[in-house]
Amino acid sequence: MTIMERTLAIVKPDGVSRGLIGEVIKRLEGSDFKIVAIKMLHLTKKQAEGFYDVHKGKPFFESLTDFMSSGPAVMMILEGENVIARYRELMGATHYKEAAEGTIRREFATDIEKNVVHGSDAPETAAFEMTYYFNNLEIVS
Ligand code: UDP
Ligand code: MG
Repeated sequence: MTIMERTLAIVKPDGVSRGLIGEVIKRLEGSDFKIVAIKMLHLTKKQAEGFYDVHKGKPFFESLTDFMSSGPAVMMILEGENVIARYRELMGATHYKEAAEGTIRREFATDIEKNVVHGSDAPETAAFEMTYYFNNLEIVS
């Protein structure tokens, strides 16, 4: 069964500074995902910590939140059938060395941390992450 879903996608600061916004969006549109909200934000350290609260206490938390607040990032809400899992597939595994051939992370990530893109991993995390950056007026339907 297919379910219409929404998910949060981010082009992380490494992707923005390396000029990969267009490359990522081209792949999203090419996969028939509809972009229903988009904005660019330069997160503060505190805002990055709040977003990644689920990883608080992990060894990579400090470095990750420094990285995510190091420059502008592009936040988007994607809509489509089974978009949560399908976008995770398009991104590839967290560590680019384990990511499948042809995925965004396999082709463009330079590091386990600097892996170009973020995507929600489940309906519950997607709901939290979308409302972290967008209100209803900012989402087209
Ligand atoms: N990360 C890291 N080291 C790790 C695991 C994760 O630097 O050992 C970073 C990486 O940028 C990753 C983010 O933390 O994308 C969030 O980790 P998660 O396990 O949620 O991976 P994702 O859902 O992004 O694939
Ligand atoms: Mg995750």
